[in-house]
Amino acid sequence: MRAARLTAPGTLELVDVPVPTAGPGEVLLGVGAVGACHSDLHILDAPGGFPTPITLGHEIAGRVEALGPGVTGWTPGEAAAVYGIIGCGHCRACLRGLENQCRTVPVGGIGISRDGGLADYVVVPASHLLKIGDLEMTQAAPLTDAGLTPYHAIELSRPSLRPGTCCVVIGIGGLGHMAIRILAATTAVTVVAVDSNEEALALASRMGAQHTVRAGQDAVDQIRRIVGPPPDGADVVLDFVGVDSTLTLARSVVSAGGQLMLVGLGGGGLTLQTGAGPVPVPLETTARIPFWGTRAELQEVVALAQQGLVKAEVHAFPLTDVVEVYDKLRRGEIHGRAVLVP
Ligand SMILES: [Zn+2]
Ligand SMILES: [Zn+2]
Repeated sequence: MRAARLTAPGTLELVDVPVPTAGPGEVLLGVGAVGACHSDLHILDAPGGFPTPITLGHEIAGRVEALGPGVTGWTPGEAAAVYGIIGCGHCRACLRGLENQCRTVPVGGIGISRDGGLADYVVVPASHLLKIGDLEMTQAAPLTDAGLTPYHAIELSRPSLRPGTCCVVIGIGGLGHMAIRILAATTAVTVVAVDSNEEALALASRMGAQHTVRAGQDAVDQIRRIVGPPPDGADVVLDFVGVDSTLTLARSVVSAGGQLMLVGLGGGGLTLQTGAGPVPVPLETTARIPFWGTRAELQEVVALAQQGLVKAEVHAFPLTDVVEVYDKLRRGEIHGRAVLVP
């Protein structure tokens, strides 16, 4: 079968490999669609390198092809989405259903620490499959990360997302555009979308953002005209970029008692400074670094999609285009989510 593999640090190649076999408790899935995520670029660019070779792709939907020994509850041909995080299953966090906080396995996942879905077939633990009914594969795949990750961040900040409050969303890419859709579907907040790209801002408007702001020198002033002067401001800021400039913007517009949700893994730093300073974080503000989401939350995101409330902006490509698609992603030419179809 074909598989897009990280064969050496920085090198992604479409190669031929044997079809894997499902072991005890596992399922062989025929991949229907797999999302191209910015995190894959972080894996490709990891300074210390990543263990190679490994098949990338952690945003997967497909059909059950074969069951490993001991698997029940699934029949061949059934459609499923894959919960991508692999926790240890027995630590304090995993036992509470918070595999995204596993205390034993740092960032384990399908397509991260074991072979992923950028291939014709992938083997996954049966416990990581969710039934998706007749959802389109190209819509289901992005739900597992581009949908789940913002949904988790929104769930964590939901007590602050009261009707009539304001949420600033920074970075309208694969995750950011879904965040706006989820906010529009599940809250009555005013959404302010921030991005450096006009096409991304147009997408934000289509997803339900009431205001769009071009990132740059006067972005803080523009947002302040919407959210009011300090100590008022945005009750929640979702930063899907996470570089120094976006973190500075985030803390410059958050309200006293607000929530900073730092989702993007851009490597930026946020100084938590008490009292006076050039850009102090307002009093009573909470900063949090949400990661991916839980299995239960994925089920909820799938339910939102099944009811037609959440729909990703998808651009589908054949698996043979995989290297080019990641180049496009790197150049910022994908608005919404690129999905590869084997
Ligand atoms: Zn991802
Ligand atoms: Zn664990």
